[in-house]
Amino acid sequence: KQPAAIIGAGIAGIATAVRLALKGHAVTVFEAQESFGGKMYQFELPGAYRFDAGPSLFTLPQLVDDLFRLAGRDPQDHFRYERLDPITHYFFADGTRLKAWADEERFAAEVEEKMGVPAADVLSFLRRSASAYEATESTFLHKSLHKAATYLSPEVLRAVAALPGLGLTGTMHQRHAKAFNDPRLVQLFDRFATYNGSDPYQAPATLSLIPHLEHGIGAFYPVGGIYSIAQSLVGLAEELGVEFRYNEPVEEILTATGRVTGVRTPQDVYDFGLVISNMDVVPTYRRLLPKQPAPERTLSQPRSSSALIFYWGIAHEFAELDLHNIFFSQDYQQEFKAIFEHKTVSADPTVYVNVTSKKTPPDAPAGHENWFVMVNVPHHQGQDWDALIAQTRQAVLDKITRTLGVAVEPLIRAERVWDPRGIEERTSSFGGALYGSSSNNALAAFLRHPNFSRQLEGLYFCGGSVHPGGGIPLCLLSAKIAAELIKG
Ligand code: FAD
Repeated sequence: KQPAAIIGAGIAGIATAVRLALKGHAVTVFEAQESFGGKMYQFELPGAYRFDAGPSLFTLPQLVDDLFRLAGRDPQDHFRYERLDPITHYFFADGTRLKAWADEERFAAEVEEKMGVPAADVLSFLRRSASAYEATESTFLHKSLHKAATYLSPEVLRAVAALPGLGLTGTMHQRHAKAFNDPRLVQLFDRFATYNGSDPYQAPATLSLIPHLEHGIGAFYPVGGIYSIAQSLVGLAEELGVEFRYNEPVEEILTATGRVTGVRTPQDVYDFGLVISNMDVVPTYRRLLPKQPAPERTLSQPRSSSALIFYWGIAHEFAELDLHNIFFSQDYQQEFKAIFEHKTVSADPTVYVNVTSKKTPPDAPAGHENWFVMVNVPHHQGQDWDALIAQTRQAVLDKITRTLGVAVEPLIRAERVWDPRGIEERTSSFGGALYGSSSNNALAAFLRHPNFSRQLEGLYFCGGSVHPGGGIPLCLLSAKIAAELIKG
């Protein structure tokens, strides 16, 4: 088996390392930062507040379990998680409050009670969302869309044949507006477009399968927080003999006559017959392969949204908050226009507050909470972020203070801000986009970069900027697809 170099210890790079080590490859992971995790890193603020810096919502935990099982380990001995119930506390601009219960019938009953939408309509929508997921999952998420063999398998042909019957035409928003008369419920389901950094007013109706992940299969919280996903998998990779080289950025992928031959870092030049890039695909071509012709059409696909996050240590406990909380904007369409058309931040953004001390009390001192406060924003295209941060901070404080009836600013004891510039700087994600290219058109799934290079033998790709897309579960699936494509 050929030795393999993995560029980047993001969640997909770590998962690929585990899979290749299990296939018998000697694996070295080169990581530019001082430690692993990429967007999934953790830090502390003065006053003993711990934060998961990036992802906070966790679905499809079985994809992590699969890696332990593949290695012959009992996942329970290494990685534990609980199913969330309720999943999210929703606060609407008109004062309505709603809890998304894990049980679909209970959730539907809550919607009927708070919004007057018949529970049967909610259940029927969720059932259709489940059918769409089941019909498309194996084709779009588990296989390369860029290999002819994929299109010849009977299950894929069955999935393609089922698509017209699912009524998935038009945009996601159109589908939701057709299903429900209540604009608040439409807004609730439209928000799922943001799970891959897209705009519900442009994204295809097929993305209406995303709610099934959370409402049907479940939302989960790993014991100790999201960082424990990366931590437990790095532990497994190390047990399998994977070498992690931190503070060692790859500066060039070395090539000769149509194949990769190794990597160059500031420390040394290394020979490798296999190179798997977990770095965003745009800088992989621009910086590490400057002499190779780049797939320009793929690289020029519109980026997904990015995020502006305020990490606050809060000297108070709010009984109305849970782990996941959403404070909706008044005008959702205007909010997405601001992001995707005007490339700015809405004056009234939807605010997501994640409080891990609700589940892991040591994440904040007694009587305090650790707030991760996030707003969706465009990727970095030269905006005046300092001005946007000041404006958004005030809008966020006003909205939460108004909704909860407690002045929030005087409670802030520690603060850090992460914006698209910082996300790009730390992780090399092009423009700080959270999920690579957006899914704002029907062909987006096919226009993502494949998990292999069409030009260079031995070069593969994993991570949120390539097929099947961003977010923890899809990154784990990108690792599976890339590792399965590697034969030698
Ligand atoms: P990344 O995390 O992007 O890591 C890439 C790694 O490669 C980095 O460690 C980087 O330092 C390293 N690297 C880059 N260039 C080089 C080089 N030349 N040499 C060596 N190393 C290099 N997903 C969810 O599922 N749920 C959520 O709730 C969610 N919320 C999010 C909120 C925020 C604020 C952010 C930022 C992301 C969120 N995501 C969420 C998305 C999710 O975090 C990402 O899709 C996923 O973590 C990306 O993993 P990755 O494997 O693509 O690599």
